[in-house]
Amino acid sequence: MRRIKKGDTVEVVTGNHRGMKGTVHRILADKNQVIISGINIIKRHTKPTGRVRTQAGIIEREAPLHVSNVALVCPHCNQRTRVGYRILPDGGRARVCKSCNEMVD
Ligand SMILES: [Zn+2]
Repeated sequence: MRRIKKGDTVEVVTGNHRGMKGTVHRILADKNQVIISGINIIKRHTKPTGRVRTQAGIIEREAPLHVSNVALVCPHCNQRTRVGYRILPDGGRARVCKSCNEMVD
């Protein structure tokens, strides 16, 4: 089970974007990376190539961050937090905020 899921609000805890918050837009599970809306924008300079119609110019897009560089922001206490787990009656597991003990899912 993953610490971070798509749609979570997270805060960047290290690097150039430390302190910025955003919503997880995409998860790259095999690389343990996440793409967060509006954070870590990179500019790519692209040239038109051959006959294939490609978008030329400067394209801005979000670059992935490693999950270890972000922390979940709890929707209940609105703080960045560590994630715990709680076993549910049906045998599933839910994520729990370690600050306020509320379930995040
Ligand atoms: Zn909380």
